[in-house]
Amino acid sequence: MIKNYYLNLDTSKNPNGNYEVHTSQCYYCPTINKVYLGAYDNGIQAVAEAKRRGYYKADGCCYCCPEAHRE
Ligand SMILES: [Zn+2]
Repeated sequence: MIKNYYLNLDTSKNPNGNYEVHTSQCYYCPTINKVYLGAYDNGIQAVAEAKRRGYYKADGCCYCCPEAHRE
């Protein structure tokens, strides 16, 4: 199922200083300080897009993108 993915630009609350990737429906998806990554099949593709844009410390949210969650 295709979902809309966002990148949280606020890394201050992430224990590892990562940019977290969320789906638009995620409870933890921020309302501000975020950038739209696009519509993808899964979080792995969304994280890859974030890294392509230069956010090398992008990581999937453990709740909405467990397939892309590393730390
Ligand atoms: Zn999330």
